[in-house]
Amino acid sequence: MNKKPTKSFKAEMNLPKLIEQFGSDEKCRAQLASLRWPKGVACPRCQSKSVSKVVERDQYDCNACRYQFSVTSGTIFHDTHLPLSKWFLAIYLMTESKKGMSALQIKRTINVSYETAWYLCHRIRAAMRDINAELLRGVVEVDETYVGGKTRGMGRGYKGNKAIAIGAVQREDQFIHDNTAPDTEAIYTDEMPAYWGIEDADTKHKWVNHSKEEWVVGDVHTNGIESVRSLLKRSIIGSYHKVSIKHLDAYLDELEHRFNNRKNEYIFRDTLTKLVNATKLPYSELTKSA
Ligand SMILES: [Zn+2]
Repeated sequence: MNKKPTKSFKAEMNLPKLIEQFGSDEKCRAQLASLRWPKGVACPRCQSKSVSKVVERDQYDCNACRYQFSVTSGTIFHDTHLPLSKWFLAIYLMTESKKGMSALQIKRTINVSYETAWYLCHRIRAAMRDINAELLRGVVEVDETYVGGKTRGMGRGYKGNKAIAIGAVQREDQFIHDNTAPDTEAIYTDEMPAYWGIEDADTKHKWVNHSKEEWVVGDVHTNGIESVRSLLKRSIIGSYHKVSIKHLDAYLDELEHRFNNRKNEYIFRDTLTKLVNATKLPYSELTKSA
């Protein structure tokens, strides 16, 4: 995760504005068209820009290859019978809510079936995976946490039914400005053996020994990542209640996306842009067993 410096933060989108600007299918389509084709409508099949608009069907006809398409053709918005304004609401709610939204909350809030809400959530999360490909630099904090339910009779320490989630955050950019080496300079972790040996010639590895109640030694601590870990725990406890191991990666991706964009006033628009340009995730891909 990348921490960017923060100035005054004011979200570009809010609920009244969303309803006013994207309350109808027509307005949503216009928005998607400007995000999908910023340089003018192009045929998704042959890229020709010679297209005719068929207004009554919300479609375009390609004059070169005769392909008929709409702004949602080939995107994740296609094939759902859901009004685009509900899609927009779901995207807004998921990007805006700090702790995330469960399918159950989406179901209740936008008034769709649970199956639709579940499908919607997973499609939005899947598209978010395309974001945040940037590698971490400078000083990186790494920490691990176990995610999963309690097993009766086994006590809280039992990890047999849990998945391990390893998180990493980059220290605030101020530190990096002072340390201009192109490679990662240091990785700070706790004492867990999994981290041993991650250093190399130009990357130091330092750790604090949590089992000995050691939390901060000089500059070495993992407080940054631990705040993210507690956000993850609160997200799961507060919103999701139960995260299946199969979908854990997707939940973590969503958390990362929201964390990295927490100061991004255009998060709604940016997520929408990713979604309209993302490849479709077939339903079979989502439901196949891990
Ligand atoms: Zn064409």
